[in-house]
This record gives sequence, structure tokens and C-alpha cells, in this order.
Amino acid sequence: MSKVQDLEADEVIDYCANEKCGKEIHIGQPVTKFGHELLCSGKCLIERIGGVTIIAGKEVKPGYERNR
Ligand SMILES: [Zn+2]
Repeated sequence: MSKVQDLEADEVIDYCANEKCGKEIHIGQPVTKFGHELLCSGKCLIERIGGVTIIAGKEVKPGYERNR
């Protein structure tokens, strides 16, 4: 979307709270906040809270990766 113009904008301030992702979170980046944690995308938030993204009508088998 918008281009990063600030030279300091790529400073890493945190990492995605989704352990499977763990991407760097940079200043100025739009992120999802969950409590005090930051997640790089809505998908990561869903995974962080234990949800999974599936294709409707083609659900993956229940119980897949339910460990936290
Ligand atoms: Zn992430």
C-alpha cells in the first residue's frame, strides 16, 4: 500500500506473537494487536488464538495442531 518513506521506518520494534511466524514488526507497519502482543496479520492473530483458516466446505480434519 503506502510506501515507506522514513529512513528509520524499518527499525524492528517487535516480533509477530504467532510463534509459527515470528516475523519482524517494523515501525509504521500496520499490525494487529492482541492484548500487549503484536501480530503481523489477521491470519497470525487467528493462529495465535487457536483458530485455523480453512477452505469452506473442505475442512481439514478436526484436531489438527490443537496444541498451543
Ligand atoms: Zn505473523
